[in-house]
Amino acid sequence: MNTARTEYEALHLYIDGEFLGATGRRTQPVINPATLETLGELPLASDDDLARAVSAAERALRSWKNTSPLERGTILRRAGELARERVDSIARQITLDQGKPLAEARIEVLGCADHCDWHAEEARRIYGRVIPPRSPEVKQLVLREPIGVCCAFSHWNFPYNQAIRKVGAALAAGCTIILKGPEDCPSGVLAMARTFHDAGLPAGCLNIVWGEPAHVSETPIASPAVRKISFTGSVPVGKQLAAQAGAHMKRVTMELGGHAPVLVFADADIPRAAQLLCRYKTRNAGQVCISPSRFYIQQTVYEQFIECFTAELSKIRLGNGLDPDVTMGPLTHARRLTTMQSFLDDARAHGAQIHACAPLPDLPGYFHAPTLLTEIPAQARIMTEEPFGPLVPLAPFHNLDEALALANALPYGLCSYVFTENLKIAHICAHGIEAGMVNINHSGVALPETPFGGIKDSGIGSEGGAESLDAYLTTKFVTQM
Ligand code: NAD
Repeated sequence: MNTARTEYEALHLYIDGEFLGATGRRTQPVINPATLETLGELPLASDDDLARAVSAAERALRSWKNTSPLERGTILRRAGELARERVDSIARQITLDQGKPLAEARIEVLGCADHCDWHAEEARRIYGRVIPPRSPEVKQLVLREPIGVCCAFSHWNFPYNQAIRKVGAALAAGCTIILKGPEDCPSGVLAMARTFHDAGLPAGCLNIVWGEPAHVSETPIASPAVRKISFTGSVPVGKQLAAQAGAHMKRVTMELGGHAPVLVFADADIPRAAQLLCRYKTRNAGQVCISPSRFYIQQTVYEQFIECFTAELSKIRLGNGLDPDVTMGPLTHARRLTTMQSFLDDARAHGAQIHACAPLPDLPGYFHAPTLLTEIPAQARIMTEEPFGPLVPLAPFHNLDEALALANALPYGLCSYVFTENLKIAHICAHGIEAGMVNINHSGVALPETPFGGIKDSGIGSEGGAESLDAYLTTKFVTQM
């Protein structure tokens, strides 16, 4: 018997406060990436469903935008509490459909609860300002108002977390939202919808739809009711959606891909750097937009780093994420395995040395070993395109200038890592690396209270931090005599 299927919760759309099932709708199977069992059937939104979601969000906006920030904060905080209460069951569902180890799924869910708290608190701080007038009888006010109905497209790598970043900020700001979540692993997004539903969020403030991505995005982007588009995903799709939104003069937030450089200097604590980087690299099987993905190691410690890093990778245990001993799960879908293979084929054709560092489990799922690539020329695809998987290309550098030039050589600028004990090098890298986030001697990004976002081709805008609500607010100037 397919036991995973029996414990996997039924899948729905969530429109205008109602959970809608598969009856009368097309469906798409959801697969467990570790076992390839079918977990359930996801109902896809019809054109009528999409139109209903837009009009529900439009109607709900009329009252939600006028609720007090305290009231909005209370609902957000309650949704966070429910996430904490339900952490075990939600995490289990995420491991079943997304593949990450249960411990990582729990961290994801608890992080989402923190996002609810953060946005509940930020709602109270939507301050305007008073500008001193040129004439005493004039009053000049700057007001910050919700932008309106938002439409968001969230990613499959942290299904709950990518969704709550958008939903939490939009609801805190007084906006309503339609979210298309990831069809491959929908449980986290639906669990989020249930927390808001049970927390008393009024009908229509949050609507969840599923479907063929390009089709589902067309209707809301073109609708005059929708004022803001937020997307997390690849650079090409982000550019396409930003262009569509631009044609309708809609505000965008774009959280896109990168190819995070890692600079390890000779003065760094090499065993510690290897240990931490192994942890960051293998988290979620490397399917993390901020995953370290191009490793540049100073020549004099290059061999030492490879030795330490290989030893760390060899401790990784691949398998079904429900197994408590497993430290790395499968890739989330078959497309990623094909992509890994194409990177390896290209690297091999460029003369790279390839070394798989951990054994594959005896399971039918989409498993890929963490794999080191050395002696790899700069023009190989893996050095210019993000693998979004457990591949680790390594190359030596000689000095700081060369390291910075390598780090900044690509059109992306999302995340970066520097390991050094030298304050001057740390300072120069912090300022010199063209990226939205620079981690020095550890990884500390993606907390609710810190801004997360890329520059250059990696995106527009930030999620999290004091900046989080900016994306969902407009600025109105009022002058009165
Ligand atoms: P992708 O852009 O092909 O797909 C990402 C998501 O977007 C999927 O859930 C998909 O259903 C949806 N999508 C695709 N086309 C769409 C359309 N026309 N309209 C609306 N939604 C659409 O990316 P991928 O290859 O699956 O994912 C990997 C990429 O995502 C990497 O580049 C990674 O860095 C990036 N990413 C970025 C962040 C971030 O926060 N910056 C987070 C996660 C992933």
